Parts: sequence; structure tokens; C-alpha cells
Amino acid sequence: MNLGNITRLQSTDEVIAGHPDLPQEAIFKEDLLRIGVDFSEDALRVSAGFKPKSYFIFSFDRRPIEEMERSENLRSPEEIALVGGPRNFRRTIVSVRILPGSPYRVEVLDGRLQLLVDGEPIANVELQNTPSYYRRALKNGKPITEMAPTIEWGYLVYLTVYRKCQYFGFNEECQFCDLNENFRQQKAAGRPYNTVKEVEEVLEALEIVNEEDTERRTKAYTITGGSITRHLHGLEEAAFYSRYARAINERFPGRWISKMVVQALPLESLRTFRDAGVQIYHPNYEVWDPRLFSILCPGKDRHVGRDEWIRRVVDSSELFGPSHVIPNFVAGIEMSRPHGFARVEDALRSSGEGLEFFMSKGITPRFTTWCPEPLSTLGKDHEPAPLEYHAGLLRVYRDTLLRHKLPAPPGYGEPGAGQAIFSVSAFMDVLPEGHPVAPV
Ligand code: SF4
Repeated sequence: MNLGNITRLQSTDEVIAGHPDLPQEAIFKEDLLRIGVDFSEDALRVSAGFKPKSYFIFSFDRRPIEEMERSENLRSPEEIALVGGPRNFRRTIVSVRILPGSPYRVEVLDGRLQLLVDGEPIANVELQNTPSYYRRALKNGKPITEMAPTIEWGYLVYLTVYRKCQYFGFNEECQFCDLNENFRQQKAAGRPYNTVKEVEEVLEALEIVNEEDTERRTKAYTITGGSITRHLHGLEEAAFYSRYARAINERFPGRWISKMVVQALPLESLRTFRDAGVQIYHPNYEVWDPRLFSILCPGKDRHVGRDEWIRRVVDSSELFGPSHVIPNFVAGIEMSRPHGFARVEDALRSSGEGLEFFMSKGITPRFTTWCPEPLSTLGKDHEPAPLEYHAGLLRVYRDTLLRHKLPAPPGYGEPGAGQAIFSVSAFMDVLPEGHPVAPV
């Protein structure tokens, strides 16, 4: 990619030079996440023998499946590990977001996988072996890759138990989200997606994971899915999702850290989760700025309201403890066109204000780096936020957390460059190695 007279690599190197206090690996990681990566035909052939992309919830791709001429959706790995190479990378785990034609390209060079930018090698690429549980299926034939895929290099079992969202259509859906559209395209492409997973199916899948995972690499599970604004199977949101946590925690007491990603709910609903054994609650606030929240999350704004949403996040720390409330935001949408901030410094000030608000209360947010998914409203013809913003945000995040003397949020493995396994943002990569993690 040529940005005027500047190549992608030169541009990324400029950001690295402007942030000498951040690991270069973290900046490349953010760039890969916001732009996406391409694979040569040979690299796809090699990747097909390793752990595949499972489409665990959203597409997280920069192109719809129908534009993937080489079936990249079926042949790409879930994650890549960048190691060594000309820039001596410390091991860096990055989620794969497919963009055919990206300046970031994985190729086979000198007999091994390497990551190139604008044709220049920057790091070696390693892939995760396919775990043995991926080769098994439930008695009814449903594959583990659909029922209980793992991400974060096998750390997190990701249970999307409801693959649709009742915020539906332009006036309700979060504008950056392609959950409903991704469901449609995956079904059309033949992936065995289920709208709703039965509790017994999830338990059977976890029996298989637990049996096969003899080294206990899976450490946590997340239960999530679309928002339930009315009822699903006759149940409200907390009642629907808590059934899974209760059943898992009764069947496998203490086996995994228990996490729930749902809406910001009132305290009485949240008690259902706590009573079901949920340890970590993720009531995602998506974007801090109130004006942008109402534009980018119109359903949430109308049904709950931004101020009430934030109040519920804070209130929930009474039940779970502040360090166990980890609200996510979608880093980059604050600069999305046409409503977002035009200047990096304004976007950083706003996101920094949100981090200060929560961290001053002991609540540690985390973020997912936004890539414009073409089937979402914001993804249509929109560019990602500048790398400069993402690098600045990593710095603000780290500095705010350290200033408030907070531990790293629990349920993401170890922090530090070369250690972090969280793959959809570099926020754990930029915390100091050995920094304490909040106990679960
Ligand atoms: S609440 Fe928003 S982000 Fe979550 S699934 Fe629904 S539309 Fe997507």
C-alpha cells in the first residue's frame, strides 16, 4: 500500500519511532488488526494444516466471503504468532483478519512462513497446531469448531450461544457490528452455524474439550451472544444466559475461569449471574463519548440509555468486585466517518477520559481493535482509524492503569511483550512483563 509517496512500512515505522516507549511488536499487531492480512497461495496451503479460523462470533474480516476468491475463509488460521525474523520479534499473537491484497502478507520464504510488509520480511510466522478436540464432534454430529472453539492460542473457550442479536437493522444494530449479517453469510457459505446452542450441547462439547485438553491449556470460558431485548425461548437476557454458566459450573466446578459478555443489566438481573458462578462480567460500553454512543449504538441508547448503561457498569462492581468488571470498547470507532472525531488528539482525549473514569473506580476496561467489517454499517466504504490513534491509545491505557496502580485484568493470561496471548488488541502486550494480574 502506498500512502502518497510513503509505503505502509515507512508509515508504520514512523509511528514506532514516535512511540519509543511501546514495543514495536504491539504497533505492528495493531496495524495488522486494523488493516487485515493477506496470505499467498502457498501460505494458505500450509495454514490449512493448522488451527483454522472458526468465526467464533463476528466475521472480523475486511472482505465478505463472497469476495474471497481463494476460499480464504476456510483456509486461514485463527491466529498467527510473529516470532524472531529481521526485527527480532518477541512472540506476538495476532488474530487473523482477512484482507486479500493487504500490504501485510504471509508468504512461504526460504521454506518457512514469514510476514512481509510491502514485500519486505519483518517476522517469522508460527501457527497453532489443531487441538485434538477440533477433530471431534457431538453425538448429533455438530463439530467442536462450531460448539466450543478456542482463541487466544487455546486459552479461551468461546461460547457464542446465541448467534443473532435482537437489535436488528440500521436503527438498532451497533453500527460497527456484523453479527446478524455474518450469521447470514456463514450459513450461506455452508458453515454449520446454529442460532441457539442448547445447554446440553454446550456441556457435551466441554466434556470433549476437557477430556482432550490433558495439559489444561484452556483456562477460561466466555459465554456470549447477541442482546436479548425481549425474550428468547421465553426467557429474558439474564435468565437465558445464566443457564449456561450454572450448568457448566456445576458440571466442571473450578475447571475454567467463568466470563459473561452481555448487556449492562440492572443489579437484580446480575445477581442471577453471580449466583450461577460467573466470576467476570463484561458489560461492553463500546465507545465513551455520549454523542457517539447514541449514534453508533442506537439500540442500546434507546433501550437502556448511555448514562444508565455507565451507571449499571459501575453498580455491577458491588457484586463482582471492581477488578472483575471488564467492560470492552471498540477501539477506533471513535474516529469512524462521518460522525467520529476527526483529530487523533480529540479521540484520545475522549477515550482517555473514559479510561480515567473507570480506572479511578478500580474497574479496568479492555478493548478490541476495530476493523471495518464490510457487512456492518460502519464497514461499508470506511477506513480504519489511523495507526497513530491506536498507538496513542495503548500508551494512554498503560499509563492510566499504572497511575491508578491497578493490576492487569484477569482472564487474559500474562501481560508483557512476548508473553501476551490476547489476540484482538495489544493492550496486554504493552503492560510491563511481570505486572501483577488481578486474582480470580
Ligand atoms: S448489542 Fe450491538 S455489538 Fe452486541 S451483538 Fe447486538 S448489535 Fe452487535
